[in-house]
Amino acid sequence: MVKQEVSFFWFRRDLRLEDNVGLFQALKSKYPVIPLFIFDDSILDSLPKNDARVGFIHESLSKINQQLQETGSSVLVKKGKTIDVWQSLIQEFDAKEVFFNKDYEPYAIQRDTIICEILEANNTISYSFKDQVIFEEKEIIKADGLPYTVYTPFKNKWLEKYKSMAPVPEYDATDMFSNFHKNSFTFPTLEQIGFEESPIKVKPHNLKFIANYHDIRDFPALDKTSYLSPHLRFGTVSVRKLVNWAFHKNDVFLSELIWREFFMQILFSFPKVVTQNFKSAYDGIQWRNNDDDFKRWCSGTTGYPMVDAGMRQLNETGYMHNRVRMVVASFLCKHLLIQWQWGEAYFAQKLLDYELSANVGNWQWAAGTGCDAAPYFRVFNPEIQQKKFDEKGSYIRKWIPEFDLGYGKPMVEHAMARDRAIATYKAGILK
Ligand code: FAD
Repeated sequence: MVKQEVSFFWFRRDLRLEDNVGLFQALKSKYPVIPLFIFDDSILDSLPKNDARVGFIHESLSKINQQLQETGSSVLVKKGKTIDVWQSLIQEFDAKEVFFNKDYEPYAIQRDTIICEILEANNTISYSFKDQVIFEEKEIIKADGLPYTVYTPFKNKWLEKYKSMAPVPEYDATDMFSNFHKNSFTFPTLEQIGFEESPIKVKPHNLKFIANYHDIRDFPALDKTSYLSPHLRFGTVSVRKLVNWAFHKNDVFLSELIWREFFMQILFSFPKVVTQNFKSAYDGIQWRNNDDDFKRWCSGTTGYPMVDAGMRQLNETGYMHNRVRMVVASFLCKHLLIQWQWGEAYFAQKLLDYELSANVGNWQWAAGTGCDAAPYFRVFNPEIQQKKFDEKGSYIRKWIPEFDLGYGKPMVEHAMARDRAIATYKAGILK
């Protein structure tokens, strides 16, 4: 049987039809374009069956599928090891071209290199594009050609480059939707992928408060941040549209989006940060790594209301306010002397917006081991943080209903823990 000549657009962390660079380029192909998504067993096998992120991916794909059905097309959804799926796709179709957007995480880079080799051996041309960032890889570098490791000069260079081209182009492919392959692939249910609904859901993003963002973002009870993070993680919003819009609205908000790119660039240039300290001088710190202490931190029963409220918010909703993330991370590393990798792994399991670069970058920032990190002798006092950022205790009461009934004692006394942390760091940092 003659195989059909087609191109593929491979969706990964760019789950939208709007302003999607790789998709825009794919639809210019002279072959009909099959939109494809692969549920990758190498990732899924390590997740609980009710992982809310898988549910969100499924829901986002389902929306794309409905939009595509209006054009007579549909998403081809596969599940398996990525390599096996591609091997069988090139048996089934005469795949002329494959288009996808770049993913800069170490696992993804390795996976894509292998897939591109398989495609090349089949005479299929693959094309990859920058889509999830404004500036990627080596676009923002120092005059000496090395990557920035300090945020402020990175941000200044980023802004200088962005201003020279603002607004960055957006890619509307609506006129080319007729180039999608005409088909009606069966869209699997979540159960057919081996998962089930989670009570935890991704919230829609919200940008109404943007003008006051800098004044209100640090107060968790106000709950006034954008909730964009899972949407940026899975690409249900376009970063170009967002930055072009935010550029004239609020500098502090824009700076947060630049932090996102800073940590992505650090991960790309220094992949060792996934597991190792960015500053190797900190490798000699003698962590206590006590299992029982870690369990109390995870369950939100440390006796410090701000820490406990944050951990309970995380456990119940898959989200935690940024200010509180900083407090709980500092508490784990400094008060309990548990190495950042433990906390990073726990966040990775629980966060709907889990993003390797931001998680590792922020955890190393809190631990003092990262680039441009908080100095090791800065130990957040969870009680003062609470007074400053949740003065009336509204955030705490929301997540700790028993708070007013007489809350338990702190598991570790602050002044002792602070001195112990500073002494331990001092003794462990290699000169
Ligand atoms: P907003 O305040 O509305 O910010 C808008 C966007 O800017 C965010 O969606 C995010 O993309 C970006 N941003 C904001 N702050 C940061 C930051 N410090 N670093 C990088 N990007 C930032 N963010 C993640 O997306 N994934 C993670 O896994 C993650 N882990 C974290 C771990 C720790 C210990 C800490 C302290 C922070 C972590 N953050 C992480 C950063 C930040 O807490 C979240 O991005 C933010 O709380 C998400 O809520 P929002 O979208 O409402 O934020």
